[in-house]
Amino acid sequence: MTMERAPGLNQSELGDAAPGPQDAAGQENAAGQENTVTLQAVAIEPTVVAARPPEKMAQNKIQCDACPVLCQISDGRLGACDRWGNVGGRLTRTDPVVLMRRPDIDVVPTGDGDGGLISPAPQPNVPGPGGLFVSGVASGTTYPDYKPAPFIVASAHRGVDLVTVVTEGIFSYCSFKVKIDTDRYLGPEQATVRHKGEAVGHVTTIEYGSQFLSLGGVHHLTGGSKKEGRVACELMMNLGNRQAVELEIEGGAVLTVQADRAPVINGVEERRMRVGCGSATIGIFAQQWYDQLDEVVVVDDHITGVLTEHQAGRCLDMAPSGIRLRGRKSTPGRYFQVAEPGTGWGGTNITDPLSIIENWDPKTTRPGLRLLMVSTTGEDAEYFVLDDALVPCKAPMPGTVRKVVERIGENCEPALATVLFVGGAGGSLRAGVTDNPILLTRSIKSLLTRVTCGGAPAYIWPGGGITVMTDVSRMPDLSFGSVPTPAIVAPIEFTLRREDYRALGGHMDRIRTLEDVTGRETHRIIEWDSSNPWPLAGFA
Ligand code: SF4
Repeated sequence: MTMERAPGLNQSELGDAAPGPQDAAGQENAAGQENTVTLQAVAIEPTVVAARPPEKMAQNKIQCDACPVLCQISDGRLGACDRWGNVGGRLTRTDPVVLMRRPDIDVVPTGDGDGGLISPAPQPNVPGPGGLFVSGVASGTTYPDYKPAPFIVASAHRGVDLVTVVTEGIFSYCSFKVKIDTDRYLGPEQATVRHKGEAVGHVTTIEYGSQFLSLGGVHHLTGGSKKEGRVACELMMNLGNRQAVELEIEGGAVLTVQADRAPVINGVEERRMRVGCGSATIGIFAQQWYDQLDEVVVVDDHITGVLTEHQAGRCLDMAPSGIRLRGRKSTPGRYFQVAEPGTGWGGTNITDPLSIIENWDPKTTRPGLRLLMVSTTGEDAEYFVLDDALVPCKAPMPGTVRKVVERIGENCEPALATVLFVGGAGGSLRAGVTDNPILLTRSIKSLLTRVTCGGAPAYIWPGGGITVMTDVSRMPDLSFGSVPTPAIVAPIEFTLRREDYRALGGHMDRIRTLEDVTGRETHRIIEWDSSNPWPLAGFA
C-alpha cells in the first residue's frame, strides 16, 4: 500500500508561510507526490484506533490525535509529520515498530532485498520471550496521555517475568548536548549558535579537552519566531538521527557536527583530542624530557606549562631556565592567558610560539640552552637553541625529542563529536505506564524500573522528574521524529518486573505477549547493538 502526502504538509513548509498547525491539518495531497511511504502488511489490527472526528470533518477523513496538531487525514494519505496515515479509515503508524534481536536467536530474513529482517506475519520460528526487545522506535504514542502506552509487553529473562512499557514520547522539553573534542576556540561561552540563520542554542562550558554546546530546548522551540522553532526542531531531529549539521557560532567558528564523527572546524577536520592541559602534559612527559632539554613550554589556551618552574621539573632537580612568559602566572610553571583564544597552537591564536615569551632573565639563562615549544596535541612543535645574544634560534629537532613529541600525539584520542539527547519524560507520558504517575517516578529512582531509549541505556538525572540522557549513537537509525507543534518525538521504554509493575498501578489488562506483538503488529527486527547492555538483563 502506498500513501502520499500533500506538498502543503511538507515539514519544511510548515513555517511562517504555512498556516498554524490546526490549519495545516486536513490539507489534501495531489497526485504523484514525492513523499510516499509504503506500508508493509497493514492487514493486522492497528494499535491505535481512529480518533473521534470533529463534527465538521469530511466523512472520508479521520482525525489523528497523536499530537496536538490534530491532522484530519483522508484515506490513503499521511498527516503533517509523515508518521501517521489513514489506512482504510484506520489511523495507522506508518513505520513498522522496531524490535531488537539478540544474536543468539534465529529470525528468518524476508529476502526482500533491503537487508532488513522483517517478519510482518506470524512465522514458524518467531523467537521466544527474552530474545526480542520491543523498542519505542515507531511504536506510537500515548498522546493526549489518557491512553495506555501503545505496547505493554510481557517477556522473561532468566526466569524473571518482566514487563516493558513502550512508547514514542513527544518532547517539547528536550535538547541535545554536544561534546566537541577540540582545543580550538569555537566561540565565547554563552555565544549564540545558529543554524540556517536561526538561533538554535548556545556555547556552554569547556570541559577537559572538549567544548560543549547546548542545542535546541523549549526556549528555541517555542519562545522565538515560528521559523526559529521549526529550524531548531529540524536541527534537533537531524542531530538525533546522526546526520551532519552545519552550525555557526556568533563571534566564533563555523562547524560541521555529526554524532560519533570528527568535528569539522572552519573547514578543517579535527583529528586529535589533546592529551591534557599544558600543565598536565608537562607532568606526564617531564621524565622523558629532563635529560634532553633545558626547557619545555607546552602551549595551551587555558594552562600553559613551563617545565623547569613546574613542580614536575623541580622534583627532577631541573635548573631554572630564566624564561619569562606573557600572561598571568597561576602557580609555579602554570600560566593563564598567554595569548588570545583561537585556532592556532593549543587553542590559542598564535602561530609563532616565541610570541608568548616576554623575555629571558639574563642572570639565569645561558647561550646554548635547548628549548622545546609544543602544543597539547603534539601537532605543533618547534625546537630552539639560544644563541650568544640569548635569542632562541630554530634548530633541527633531535630524534629523541621528536620521539616524545610523537608520543604526545600517540596519547591523544581521536577527536569526536558526541551527541546526547536530554529529555524530560517526567510529564504526562507517565500516564501511559500507570494511572498513578508518581509511582513510576519513584520506581525509577529506586532502580526498580529501567529506562532505555530505543534500547540504549539512559542516565536518569537526580532530583525531580524523569530527565533522561542518552547517547544517540547507541540508538537505532532514525530513532527521532518530529511534529510541527514543534516538538521532538523520541522512543522510550520502561522495563520492570511484572510484580513491580502491578505494585505501581500499571495497566495490567493491557499486557500483551511478545508472540502477540510479532504475530499481529507490523514490525521490523534489527540486530541488537551488543555494545549496549541487553535491556532485559540484570533483573533478579
Ligand atoms: S502531525 Fe500530529 S496530528 Fe498530524 S499526523 Fe503527525 S502526530 Fe498526527
